[in-house]
Amino acid sequence: MPPRHRRAPEVHKFGGASLADSSAVRHALHIVQSHGQGPLVVVISAMAGVTDAILTLSHEATGSDQRTTASLLTQLRFRHEEVVRALLPMGRNQATILDQVGTLFQELEALLQGLRPPDEPTPRTKDLVLAYGERLSARLFTAGLQALGIRCKYVDALEVIHTDALHGHASPDLDRTARSVRQILGPLLSHDTIPVLPGFLGAAPNGDLTTLGRGGSDLTATLVAHGLDARGVYLWKDVPGLLTADPRVVADARVVPELHPREAAELAYYGAKVLHPRALIPLAGRPIPIHVRPFADPSAAGTEVSERVPGGRHPVRALSAAPGQALVTVTGNGMLGVPGIAARTFAALHSRNISVSLITQASSEHSICFSVPEPLADLANESLLREFEGEISRQEIDGVEVSPGMATIAVVGLGMHGTPGVAAAVFTALAAAGISVVAIAQGSSELNISLVVPAERAAEAQRRIHAAFQLSRIAGGAVVQPERMELVILGMGQIGRALAALLPRVKRPALSLRVVAVIDRSGFIFDPQGLSPKRLSALAAQKRKGRQLADLPDGQALPSQAAVEHIARYALTRPVLVDLTADDTASVLEQALIGGMDLVLANKRPLAAERTVSDLLWQTARARGRRILHEATVGAGLPIIDTYHKLAESGDQVERIEGLLSGTLGSVLDDVSAGVPFSRAVKRAMERGYTEPDPREDLSGMDVARKALILARLLGYPGELASRSVESLVPPWAQSLTKEEFLQRIGELDTEWSTRAREARKSGAVLRYIAQVTPSKVAVGVRAVPESSPFARVRGSDNQLVFTTARYKTNPLVITGPGAGAEVTAAGVLNDILRLAGA
Ligand code: ADP
Ligand code: ASP
Ligand code: MG
Repeated sequence: MPPRHRRAPEVHKFGGASLADSSAVRHALHIVQSHGQGPLVVVISAMAGVTDAILTLSHEATGSDQRTTASLLTQLRFRHEEVVRALLPMGRNQATILDQVGTLFQELEALLQGLRPPDEPTPRTKDLVLAYGERLSARLFTAGLQALGIRCKYVDALEVIHTDALHGHASPDLDRTARSVRQILGPLLSHDTIPVLPGFLGAAPNGDLTTLGRGGSDLTATLVAHGLDARGVYLWKDVPGLLTADPRVVADARVVPELHPREAAELAYYGAKVLHPRALIPLAGRPIPIHVRPFADPSAAGTEVSERVPGGRHPVRALSAAPGQALVTVTGNGMLGVPGIAARTFAALHSRNISVSLITQASSEHSICFSVPEPLADLANESLLREFEGEISRQEIDGVEVSPGMATIAVVGLGMHGTPGVAAAVFTALAAAGISVVAIAQGSSELNISLVVPAERAAEAQRRIHAAFQLSRIAGGAVVQPERMELVILGMGQIGRALAALLPRVKRPALSLRVVAVIDRSGFIFDPQGLSPKRLSALAAQKRKGRQLADLPDGQALPSQAAVEHIARYALTRPVLVDLTADDTASVLEQALIGGMDLVLANKRPLAAERTVSDLLWQTARARGRRILHEATVGAGLPIIDTYHKLAESGDQVERIEGLLSGTLGSVLDDVSAGVPFSRAVKRAMERGYTEPDPREDLSGMDVARKALILARLLGYPGELASRSVESLVPPWAQSLTKEEFLQRIGELDTEWSTRAREARKSGAVLRYIAQVTPSKVAVGVRAVPESSPFARVRGSDNQLVFTTARYKTNPLVITGPGAGAEVTAAGVLNDILRLAGA
């Protein structure tokens, strides 16, 4: 039969950290199921903690306590059996798998018993026992897929992955492995069968089982991808992606959306436990992307490691650290100018298979200094003393010095090439914390700066460097042009749509403004690279049709607060949350501030909420150095908040603000004063988009009251909104109706309003809804103002605000203009965004 699939396969690897128990395994099975359209290979690690447990067992077994060994083994066995029982229905299949698990455990037990105390197991035996972790989990996974009706086959890793004979740390034979990958996995794939492969394991040239080093399943996955010329590799892990630093050390570490393989390799090599140090080698020079994806959140973008990623934008992208290092120094005056000392040093180490992770040589050539893993320090010392026996006896070399208790830290980024001052910034940051740097090396590729610090200061050193380069907002460094800013839009209604239409028209060469996420009540859509204007307008169109984001392609269902938390995990440059809702969003905003976002609000509710709520927002912003701009909460795009701040900053004292603050009420009362029936006037305001979604928000005076309260709080008003100071145009009987019922019965209000308007007209006045604000008072309500008053001349939905200040006392400062409508409000919001960019 000809192969049905011409598409290149994907390789999915499930990390041990993710596979904790039966529900985690079930989740992994579902991930495979949902990727089931294309050809697929699955690579499985041992379940969480199993490799460590077997390692402990192999040491315990050589000790004397048989009982501990037995009970540890029983525990391990129960864990695996629990998964079988949870995933497979009772019956023959379940029994068969339980049998297989039983047999594997018997073999393991026999091997462990065979270990002769007091000798440590040989590396070869250790590999044999460790292999059971992966063999067990891959068997379970195969059975689980079968139970879901998915065609798959367990494949023995030893037939596929070929390595050298270095037990415990074997290196793959790339060509041979590629050949057997094709030979063995190819036919399965063309028969629509998913090969399931235990990771981490290989076969030495003599057929012995080898392991690829801790975390080696990553390497198994890339080896398979190399052999099959895969479309991509997915590494499902317990972290949201490759982060700017180890999240256990640096709490505000962020996801790096894209990384060049050279950067990723450097991080892995220098200790970032998230990727096996050699996992990138098989894919070098090939256009096969690696996706590091969060197991817990399968639709999240995670990190893409690929050759396509342009390097160079950011001097520093991420850090990693390797604890447990020793610094070895070879010193001596006789080294000066003597060729070959360095070469002999490293040859001596190489012959003992000691890998060196950092090398520096002072320019005086007086010493060579390098770091090695601490457990190998003695061996290194010994082999160097032997190598330089002659030089030492002739006193050309003083000797070899070993300082244990060190850690190496690597600061990585392709962009540091040609960016001066990176090293200086690292040292300044460490010096400020009193951390002494014992050694430093900069790779000739200028892709990394690595340094050695005392191990007990390593965590703090990483936090300091992370902060110094503002890695929690990745382009924070000074060298980045143009400035990037990412918008997270909360609420995609009328204002959101208007804003989306305005954004592409912003012309500021020094600013790149991208919308990275849109959130609504149902969920969110997020792309750290930015949603294109086309995509945004398509989204807006869907929203207008009443669709919810969670139901759209790429939409994820999550409450807003969790969505913000998710987005904030990414290393965005300058994230700004733009709240365009009319909801109580304080807790979402709080989350955004904590996640490093600035805020731009058109939503009045959070700032007009109870004092404790709004105060908390301002406090959090202040404490975290974040800004909250909210021009559009009052008077749409009119510069009202801005005027207040300018007056206050120039030392003026604002005593009172008074005026017309509601486009809706302005338009309604203007019409009513001119003789239009109240019900018609309201519907007209709705048609023009002046009103809140429910016009009663405006008619009740609450919307104006909120604006007035926001202004009053600027002036120092300490209190809450008292309901007696808000006059409502909605009578009590109309409050409990649905919006539709209210609109049906609104005509019942017409007579009362035409009477009120007529009375006013008789005394030469018109009706206006006026807000009065002082540092000690907020009141809003309908007033009949004389035709001669400036307020009488404000027409339609325009707003007018009058500032009475110490300087503008007899001749107050007046601001008039359109105060409602999606376009002008969006313009106000955009102004705030641009103001943040300029800051
Ligand atoms: P797997 O389950 O695939 O074997 P690992 O446990 O090997 O996954 O890798 C994930 C762990 O790596 C995380 O739990 C995290 O603590 C650690 N880690 C260290 N550095 C980083 C980093 N820069 N980004 C993400 N995770 C990191
Ligand atoms: N199980 C092995 C380990 O824990 C390999 C892996 O997980 O990738 O190191
Ligand atoms: Mg791992």
